[in-house]
Amino acid sequence: MLNTNGHHTVKTESIRVKVLILGGGPAGFSAALYAARAELQPLVLTGLQIGGQAALTHAIENYPGFPEGVGGAELMELFQKQAERFGAQIEFDSALSVDFSSRPFKIMTDSRVYSADSVIIATGASPNQLNIPRENELTGQGVSYCGTCDGWFFKGKKVAVVGGGDSAIEEGLFLTRFATSVTIIHRRGNLRAGVILQKRAAENPKMKFIWNTTITEIIGSEKVEAIKLNNVLNGEQSTFEADGLFIFIGHTPNTQLFNGKLNMEKGYIKVDENSHTSVPGVYAAGEAADPHFRQVITSAGMGATAAIEATHFLEGGAN
Ligand code: NAP
Repeated sequence: MLNTNGHHTVKTESIRVKVLILGGGPAGFSAALYAARAELQPLVLTGLQIGGQAALTHAIENYPGFPEGVGGAELMELFQKQAERFGAQIEFDSALSVDFSSRPFKIMTDSRVYSADSVIIATGASPNQLNIPRENELTGQGVSYCGTCDGWFFKGKKVAVVGGGDSAIEEGLFLTRFATSVTIIHRRGNLRAGVILQKRAAENPKMKFIWNTTITEIIGSEKVEAIKLNNVLNGEQSTFEADGLFIFIGHTPNTQLFNGKLNMEKGYIKVDENSHTSVPGVYAAGEAADPHFRQVITSAGMGATAAIEATHFLEGGAN
């Protein structure tokens, strides 16, 4: 196992912590900051993606304090540094199973067992797939779920983007830096994305739209060559040539680990307004528990709330 400095850490049987935080995105690092400042020496298991989805966002323009916007990776690095400054420990590791049946809670990774007096779950969400033929085979060969990560590979190429939300439009606009054209393919006749993004998209000469259309298949043996389209109004089928297909059709919370251990609703961990789950001492924050807002600022706020509540819990206060 590697820590965030790239050093190998010693394999240990069991480690006791006061606060264990699962997930190193906006919610996890904010929880870590607050728990660290309460002198609880929190440990963060970052999971596979340090910084979470925010770190994959090219520019974040709605996080207060950055009037010119800030890179997602840069913002998450700042979150991490600030938590570490107050004593939070960060491990590049993932929980494989949890036991919340008695305290201390047990969290198992592939090399360790953690005993924790309280746990804050901030495991975020992952992008949804279209589940159409050749999607899996061509992922990384023209199919992508991250414009910031893969946009550069589409310099001078023609790309399609599926989805009509903020992510599709924001990432589509980012892709216009590289691609010769970016065609948004949306299953309805109007966008879900916010008005500012819609306006920018309408004004960008490289952005094009195909409305009321779904994608039924991706064509290409080694890489994406074209996509098959279906007009949902008249059933007309067509083929659209493209070098890349970017998919932004929402997310699924990363909560499979907690099925049967916590109360859930539609895959999201059920929390009250103070980030309490159904198990006292276990809290959840960010997109794992939030089907509505899913913003960096709201996730960060939930993380802070969870850590403050964990602090009260460990002090034996009303919680
Ligand atoms: P979203 O708002 O859930 O939008 C998903 C889009 O994908 C919708 O337009 C939906 O169509 C479409 N879709 C869903 N399943 C589909 C399928 N199987 N086939 C084709 N299209 C499908 O997801 P998001 O854009 O990722 O945004 C998630 C949250 O993050 C939102 O709350 C958003 O406001 C926030 N966000 C904010 C910013 C920002 O503030 N700058 C940036 C990114 C994300 P329908 O419209 O027909 O349902």
